[in-house]
Amino acid sequence: HAGGVGTHLGSLGEGTPLLLRRCGRVDPGSLEAYVEHGGYRGLRRALQLGPEATLAEVEASGLVGRGGAAFPTARKWASAAREPAPRYVVCNADESEPGSFKDRVLMEQDPFAVLEGLTLAALAVGAERGFIYVRGEYPESHRSLLRAAEQARAAGFLGERILESGFSFDVELRQGAGAYVCGEETALFNSIEGLRGEPRARPPYPAQVGLFGRPTVINNVETLAAVPAILERGGGWYASLGSGRSRGTKLLSVSGHVVRAGVYEVAFGTPLRTILEDLAGGVPGGGAVQAVLCGGAAGTFLGPDQLDTPLSLEALQAVGGTVGSGSLVVLDETVDLWAVVERIARFFRDESCGQCVPCRVGTQRQLEVVSAVRRAGGPVDDQALAMLNDLAQVMRDASICGLGQLAPNAVQSSLRLLGRSGGDERG
Ligand code: SF4
Repeated sequence: HAGGVGTHLGSLGEGTPLLLRRCGRVDPGSLEAYVEHGGYRGLRRALQLGPEATLAEVEASGLVGRGGAAFPTARKWASAAREPAPRYVVCNADESEPGSFKDRVLMEQDPFAVLEGLTLAALAVGAERGFIYVRGEYPESHRSLLRAAEQARAAGFLGERILESGFSFDVELRQGAGAYVCGEETALFNSIEGLRGEPRARPPYPAQVGLFGRPTVINNVETLAAVPAILERGGGWYASLGSGRSRGTKLLSVSGHVVRAGVYEVAFGTPLRTILEDLAGGVPGGGAVQAVLCGGAAGTFLGPDQLDTPLSLEALQAVGGTVGSGSLVVLDETVDLWAVVERIARFFRDESCGQCVPCRVGTQRQLEVVSAVRRAGGPVDDQALAMLNDLAQVMRDASICGLGQLAPNAVQSSLRLLGRSGGDERG
C-alpha cells in the first residue's frame, strides 16, 4: 500500500479538486485550519435546513456509494430514516481492496471532512450515535480520526446539542483486525458487536436491521467526504458535474507500472487513458500496457484496447468492467498475467470466511484450476475453461455476500486477454 506521506495527488476536470481540495494543503491536525478552508459550512447550513431538506440536497446531488456497489446514497438514508429510532450511522473505513488507498488519503489528510460527512448523515436520518470502523492496518488513519474527533467534540461539532441546535450526535472509532471480509457491511456490524466477522444473509437490509439489530446507514469514507460540499454548494451544483448516473467526482488509486502512483480525482467521464497518461505519467520507460486491473481484486482486467473507455458507471459496465472502489493497477508487458491471476485466486481462497459452500469450495477449486494451468505452462484448455465458467456461475449465483460473488471477476476477465472467452464477462 502506498497512500501515506509522499503519495502523489492530482486532479483533472470540471469541479476538481473537490475531495482533494484540502489534502496536502491544509493542516489535517487543526480544526481551525479546516474551518478556515470551508469546513463545517455544510453542517451549519444543514442545521438551518433540517433533516428532510438535508436529505433532499443529497438526493438532488445524485451521489451514489463510492465503496463499490454504487447504490444511491439518499435512497439508503431515506429508508433508514423511515424506521423507528434508535438508528445508527456507520462509516466503512475498512479499506482493504488490493490496490485501493484513496480512503486512507482522506482520513489522514482531511479527517474532519469524514467526520462532518458522518454527522450530516446522522442529522438526515435522525441518529445520535455513529461508528467509524477503520482498517486495522491503518493505525495512522485511526490516530488522525481520533485526534480530529476530540477537537470537534471540544469545539461543539460533536456531542450534546451540536452548535447549540437541538441535534446531538457522537462518534466512536473501532479498528479491524486484518480480515478483508470485514469490509462487507454486515460482517463489519458483527465485528463491531464482538461477533465473528461473518456476513449476514440479506434481507433484512441494514437500513431495517443493521448494527445491534437497529436501522443503520453505512457509507464508505469517500461517499461521506463528498457530503459536506453537497450541503455547502447545493445538490444541483454537484449533479452538474459528471454524466448519466455518474455524478460528481471520483477518487482513483493508481498503482503498478506508472511513473507516478498516487491518488487522483477526476470528474466522471474522463477517459482511463487520460488518467493513466496525463496524471500518472504513463508506463515508465515508454513501455506498453498489457492490462489494467480496474476495481481491485474484486474488479476486472481491461486490455489496452479498452483504455479509451470513459470513467463512468455506465461506460465501464458496457465493456464488462466496474468502477468498484476506483483502483487502477497497471501491468506492463513484462508481467506474467496468469501469475497475477493465480495470486488473486489465492487471495480469495484465503479471505473467504468459509460460511457458505459456493464461496468456501468455489474459491479453492478456482485456485486449483488456475494453478494447474500455470504449472502446465498454459494455455487454458477447454476442460479448464468449462470448469472455471461453471465455478464462476455457481459463486455468483449462490454466494451469500459480495466476496464470493465477485471472486471470479478477475479470473473471468483475464480469459479474454489470454484469447479465451469467459462464460460470463459481466463483471
Ligand atoms: Fe463468507 Fe464467502 Fe459466503 Fe461471503 S460468500 S459469506 S465470504 S463464504
